[in-house]
Amino acid sequence: MASKGRVFSGARPTGRQHLGNYLGAIKNYVALQEEYDCIYCIVDLHALTTMETTENLRENTYEMTLDWLAAGIDPQKSIVFIQSNVPEVTELHTILSMVTPLGKLTDLPTFKEKVRENPNNVNYGLVGYPVLMSADILLYKASAVPVGVDQAPHIEFAREVVRSFNHRYQTDVLVEPEMKVTVIPKVLGIDGVNKMSKSLNNHIELASTPEETLERVMKMVTDPARIRRSDPGNPDVCNVFTLHKIFSSPEYVKYVDVECRRAGIGCVEDKQALAKSINEALAPFRERRAELSKDPDYVYDVLREGGKRAREIAQQTMIEVRQAVGLVS
Ligand code: SF4
Repeated sequence: MASKGRVFSGARPTGRQHLGNYLGAIKNYVALQEEYDCIYCIVDLHALTTMETTENLRENTYEMTLDWLAAGIDPQKSIVFIQSNVPEVTELHTILSMVTPLGKLTDLPTFKEKVRENPNNVNYGLVGYPVLMSADILLYKASAVPVGVDQAPHIEFAREVVRSFNHRYQTDVLVEPEMKVTVIPKVLGIDGVNKMSKSLNNHIELASTPEETLERVMKMVTDPARIRRSDPGNPDVCNVFTLHKIFSSPEYVKYVDVECRRAGIGCVEDKQALAKSINEALAPFRERRAELSKDPDYVYDVLREGGKRAREIAQQTMIEVRQAVGLVS
């Protein structure tokens, strides 16, 4: 299929990925490769804004890349690289920060949220986060950025930065990215309340063994009103049922939908069935991951090669940006 343009997306290096990461981002990343030239970036500089220690940075980067590759991100089709390996992004960030009013940054709801979450670490980088994010997108002249509805303001922000820059320097060097709004399912954690997240330890890792997966699934909170096996349940309020809709066959989903409501099936049995479905669905991924992990150098080679390819694009953009600004090379 002919390429429609260039997609850019970044994710923090959070180590082994979980079901929420897969359903919310990775699955989409894999699918986009068929239609777009994709650039997938591990945004380690962004991660520094809230990181207390960097001791796991290398391992987390490796593990996340391994998951991406095992899930089907293909380095022959897409550029996969580490943000800090292309230092041009920090230069563009500095230049863009000059056309960004400070008030606009401090007014952003995401900034206010970060301040609430990290009141003792409101650093300069945190304020400039959206400018760095804009630099990421604009450096590679991405035409489309896949985002969930909640991230839409960030892309709008990047578009405004482009307009300010191009107006200030009377140029068309930077390109406004389009939002590719994607329906991102909200995947709850095993607590059945919060979004699946590593920091809340309510996640199920893609790379877990079948036994570990079963153990996590058995801990899942179900319909809180169903106390005894003989109580009828309500699958509509149960996260086990939500995951069945993703991982189990339509026949089984129908079966649970009926039997749960008349106490024809117990939660223990149903959770065992869910663990089996998840394990079956993830078996090919886990096989590929095990294969890839035999050669860690391959993963680092992919990142290095991706960094080289990304840098070529970035350097060309920076030649144009410097010229437009009037910086003397
Ligand atoms: S039977 Fe299944 S869907 Fe019904 S409450 Fe129990 S775990 Fe949830």
